[in-house]
Amino acid sequence: MSETLFDRVALIGIGLIGSSLARVLRRDSPATTIVACARRAETLAAVRRLDLADETTDDPARAAEGADLVVVATPLSAYAEIGRRIAPALRRGAILTDVGSVKEAVIRDLQPSVPQGVHFVPGHPVAGTEHSGPEAGFAELFRGRWCILTPPPETAPEAVADLTRMWEQAGMRVVTMSADHHDRVLAVTSHLPHLIAYTIVGTATDLEDSLKSEVIQFSASGFRDFTRIAASDPVMWRDVFLNNREAVLEILQRFTEDLTALQRAIRWGEGDKLQDLFTRTRAIRRSIIEAKQA
Ligand code: NAP
Repeated sequence: MSETLFDRVALIGIGLIGSSLARVLRRDSPATTIVACARRAETLAAVRRLDLADETTDDPARAAEGADLVVVATPLSAYAEIGRRIAPALRRGAILTDVGSVKEAVIRDLQPSVPQGVHFVPGHPVAGTEHSGPEAGFAELFRGRWCILTPPPETAPEAVADLTRMWEQAGMRVVTMSADHHDRVLAVTSHLPHLIAYTIVGTATDLEDSLKSEVIQFSASGFRDFTRIAASDPVMWRDVFLNNREAVLEILQRFTEDLTALQRAIRWGEGDKLQDLFTRTRAIRRSIIEAKQA
């Protein structure tokens, strides 16, 4: 369905997520002018080659000028500085949103810069791959996935509604919740699994050379799935853990306790405990498939 929700959209950061959104806008909203901002000349050259934007710049303030929607889609560590730079350029009535994987830290870093009359609606399209950069994006990335918006309580409902319509146009189901709740949920469903994958792949890498080659040779037995997750962008994930510290540490503590219980069950030959857990987890996998989130 083609509908022009925004006349001028600034994408500050145009990697996997920003470029996927650009592709959606190109496909569904051809009248929208897209301005892309990145730091490196080669990123901006790729954006022009792929025709993902009408204008490109390395200056976030220039990108934001006159836009009715500004989407911050860089790693989280860049947000505070971007907020300070774009603040004077944001026009009254504009919507400022983002796609960051953590939400309380985004509010901490961006909200102080938001001028009066600008609608601030933090967001997180929960969709991704282990690839980065504008070439890695694709319009179908968001289809069938959830987008979580975490508007502060005083946010104008029309701004939330406009953003909801844009993500729905991208094929997403949209839900709103508090930033704190988002960060706790994602610590379990996304951040902890990534931490575990990074740990397992790191442990295997530290094994002596002969075993390492066999780890790769026989990787189809489970290890391979972890290597895909552990190939995710190092800067993005460094920022996720630094910016969702409390929730991740809390869930990591629970996980460590459960792991210790499993260790004990194996040591004492308590097969029924192992089987009970594996039966429960298999049911969870089935419900994820039924919810079409597999
Ligand atoms: P990405 O592919 O690595 O792209 C990052 C983009 O940000 C690049 O265009 C980069 O430009 C630009 N950038 C970095 N620092 C900048 C700065 N200081 N000023 C302006 N532009 C800057 O990253 P991504 O995977 O799209 O992730 C972006 C955001 O989406 C992150 O906050 C992440 O938490 C969130 N997210 C990611 C996923 C995922 O699976 N990847 C899923 C959901 C949400 P240069 O190339 O010039 O450096």
